[in-house]
Amino acid sequence: MLSAKEAQDRVTDSEVRIRVKKVHILSSLHLTLAEDIISNDFIPAFDNSAVDGYAVKAIDIIGAEKNYPVKLRLLKEDIPAGKVPLDSLEPGMCIQIMTGAPVPQGCDCVVMKEDVLKEGKDVLVFKECRQGDNIRLKGEDIKKGEVVLKRGAKIYPPEIGLMASIGASEVPVNLPPAVGIITTGDELVDVGQKLQFAKVRDSNSYTLAAQILESGAEFKRYGIVPDDKAVIRKKILEALSECEILLLSGGISVGDYDFVKEILDDIGAEFVFWRVNQRPGKPLAFLTFKDKFIFGLPGNPVSVMVCFEMYVRPLIKKIMGDSKLYREIIPAKALDTFKHKEGRTDFVRVFLEKTDDGIYFKPTGMQGSGILTSMSLADGIAVFPEDKETIEKDTIVDVLIFKQ
Ligand code: AMP
Ligand code: MG
Repeated sequence: MLSAKEAQDRVTDSEVRIRVKKVHILSSLHLTLAEDIISNDFIPAFDNSAVDGYAVKAIDIIGAEKNYPVKLRLLKEDIPAGKVPLDSLEPGMCIQIMTGAPVPQGCDCVVMKEDVLKEGKDVLVFKECRQGDNIRLKGEDIKKGEVVLKRGAKIYPPEIGLMASIGASEVPVNLPPAVGIITTGDELVDVGQKLQFAKVRDSNSYTLAAQILESGAEFKRYGIVPDDKAVIRKKILEALSECEILLLSGGISVGDYDFVKEILDDIGAEFVFWRVNQRPGKPLAFLTFKDKFIFGLPGNPVSVMVCFEMYVRPLIKKIMGDSKLYREIIPAKALDTFKHKEGRTDFVRVFLEKTDDGIYFKPTGMQGSGILTSMSLADGIAVFPEDKETIEKDTIVDVLIFKQ
C-alpha cells in the first residue's frame, strides 16, 4: 500500500492548470499575483515634509539652540498637504509647512513646530537641523519602473496598500479553484433535521465547506446523495461540469454499499491511487478526470478532515500558486511514550504545551475516526512517521498546526 508521503507527493506533483483573472485589489487578499507589478510613478512623487513645522535652509540655523535661538523671517504663504508651493525660500526666511506637503524650492530641511516660537512676522528657531532632516525624498520608497511585487507574491494588507499607492486598482491573480462537495450515505440527514433512529447528521459537508473556505478556495455543495449508483453517478457528472476539484465523502471503502469507487471507474476517471497506509483515512482515493481532480474521502468525520488537510489543501494551494502548500509545522516533544505500528503513518490529534524545556504534545483524547470532539480540542496533528516504531517519550515529532 502507498505510504502517506508517497501519496502526498503524487498529489502535489500533479500538473495543475492555473487560471488567471484581473480582480479589484480588495478581491486579491490572500491570493497570489500572476504577474510582476511595476510602478509607473515615483513614491513619494515629490520631496515632502515628514513633519508639521517650518521649511528652512540648514545653513541659516547653524548653532541654533535653546538659549541662542536664530530668528528667521516668516513668509505669508503656508503650505498645507496637497498645495503646490508658490514662493521659493530665500536666505533668512522660513515657510510654515504641514506633513506631506511639497517642500518649497530652496528649502533643504524642515524644523519641527515644537522647536520653534512664532513672534509676529518672525520665527525663533531653537534647534539646528541638518540638510535633508524631516524631508521625505522623491522615490525613496519606490522608483518609477521598479518591480514592486513579484509574480507569485501572496497578497496581505500591506501589499494591497502598496498596489493602491502606485495606482494599480486591478491586478492579475491566480484564481482559486471551485471545489465541489458530495456527501454520500443512506443514513445521512441535513443539519436542521431531527435524528431518527439509525440516522446521522451530515457533518462532513460542513467541515469540508469550512476547510475549503479557510484554504481560500470556493465551495459548491451538491447535497446529500443516497447510496444509489444512478443518483451518485448523475451528481458526480453534474459537479465535474462545474468544479475543478470534486470531493466525495463516504462510500469509498469496501462495504457492500460503497459504490463511489466503482462509479468513478465507470465514468472513466483515472485512479492515481486508492488506499494509503495511514490512520485515519486509509481508504482515500485520488483520481483525475480530464483536467479535473477527484478525491474519494472516507466518510468518518475525522478522516475527512485529516485527508483534507494532508492531501486536498496542498492541491488547492498549488492551483492558487501559493508557494506554501502545507500548514506551519512545529517540532514538538512527546510527553509520554506512544505505541505506533512501523510502516504506517499515524495522524494524531494533539494539544501543544509550552514549557521551559520546549514544546510538548499530548493527544486530545479518544482517537477513533468518528470522534470529532478530539479534533475540536486539537491545536494540530502530530505525524507519527511510517519509519518509526514506538514513539518514545521526548522524541521530537512534526506537528501540523491548523489553529492560530
Ligand atoms: P463510509 O465511508 O460511507 O463507510 O462511512 C463511514 C462512517 O462515516 C459511517 O459511520 C458513516 O455513517 C459516517 N459518515 C459518512 N458520511 C458522513 C457525513 N457526511 N457526516 C457524518 N458522518 C458520516
Ligand atoms: Mg457510507
